[in-house]
Amino acid sequence: MLIRGGRVVDAAGDRSADLRVEAGRVGEVVPGLEPRPGEEVVDATGLLVVPGGVDAHTHLQLPVGEVRVSDDFRTGTAAAAVGGTTTVIDYVTAYRGEDPLAALATWRRWAEPAAIDVGLHMTFTEAVPEATVAACVGEGVTSFKLYMAYPDTLQVDDGVILDVLRAAGRHGGLVTVHAENGSAIDALRRRALAEGRRGAFEHSRTRPAALEGEAVARAGVLAELAGTPIYVVHVSSAPALAAVRAARERGVDMLAETCPQYLRLGPELLERADGDSFVCTPPLRDPWHQEELWQGLADGGVHTVATDHCPFTVADRRAGLRGRPDGWADFTEIPGGLPGIETRLALVWEGVSTGRLTVADWVRLCAEAPARTFGLWPQKGSLAPGADADVVVWDPGLRQGLDAGDLHMRTDHSPYAGHTVTGWPRYVLSRGRVVAERGRFVGEAGWGRYVARRPRPGARG
Ligand SMILES: [Zn+2]
Repeated sequence: MLIRGGRVVDAAGDRSADLRVEAGRVGEVVPGLEPRPGEEVVDATGLLVVPGGVDAHTHLQLPVGEVRVSDDFRTGTAAAAVGGTTTVIDYVTAYRGEDPLAALATWRRWAEPAAIDVGLHMTFTEAVPEATVAACVGEGVTSFKLYMAYPDTLQVDDGVILDVLRAAGRHGGLVTVHAENGSAIDALRRRALAEGRRGAFEHSRTRPAALEGEAVARAGVLAELAGTPIYVVHVSSAPALAAVRAARERGVDMLAETCPQYLRLGPELLERADGDSFVCTPPLRDPWHQEELWQGLADGGVHTVATDHCPFTVADRRAGLRGRPDGWADFTEIPGGLPGIETRLALVWEGVSTGRLTVADWVRLCAEAPARTFGLWPQKGSLAPGADADVVVWDPGLRQGLDAGDLHMRTDHSPYAGHTVTGWPRYVLSRGRVVAERGRFVGEAGWGRYVARRPRPGARG
């Protein structure tokens, strides 16, 4: 295939060039290529040609209490492809008492029907031997997640974080953290329930931004002591971003991820009748936090944009974690998470249309930086010759509705319902194959491959 006449933007620059796809990889990227006999030609005049998106934070197929995330790897990755994402990195969870490598095998099996390439992170919920960290790295799982919240099920203490940081550092792994002060949040939740405050909005009131900022600062200190980098998932607030900046200023390699929901949705949504459909963690924040995060995207304070895609149907949302036929009894029973795997590129693109970001920022945040950070570069996130031909031909003028019925994620609720974006993929290629075209999925379940990720350079040996 020859993609002609487009504006090619990736880490190598912003230029007018033709791009040839050969045997699933990027071939030549230069102006003035002539089609070969039989070659399919795509006219990209007036369009952008960019690397396929890399979504470094998804939850597909995940059981959550009595319910399950409504997208599995087949439907979730097809939706991702339609929106221009060609690689996802999903989070495996090894629950307490469970063998992490057995959990990894389960996720590898779940991921087989994926329509685009898939990498996996590993979540530890208790102390692990260093050999387990090394074994995960050997399987291509070179990043680890630790929770500083949810003491009953997921949270680990600071000592475990320090030990895993050190072990990961020795084996070329990167630790990611969910940074909220779980113990203090638990106290606030108990107090709300004791005072009879049960509604969805209490979810947001009991998880204040100050407790996110505190945990990010503490994570920065632990990484500093361990002498390793650390990556903070779903940074949602100004205090959290300020703590990231403070750590970076004293030389800690702390990387921040945010998600589109924290750039444009506010906590007032939780007060609506369907407020439970807007429960996510950290919670949605007031607009001034959103402004700080946009600033961080532009100045490098925020490193990546992922989605934390974690959709539920309205019925499962209402039934809650305990699966009650008459609906959840209080806010602590509402499953948390929003759909987003399909809409990330378009929502960040709005930052380009409104002049807050450059096209190069958009490519860096959505594709290049996550690929580099998580050991996929330059196979992913790049249009250098030899890279996987994961290519998005982006049409800045294509309009797309964001109601649930306009989209492909398997859920009946959209946080962006009623909104239309301008800017959507015309074509999406996964390893040289067209998998989506103008909002239609044309790929195939099982086309996606598991991508073993590389350890961080210099960390081994
Ligand atoms: Zn998550």
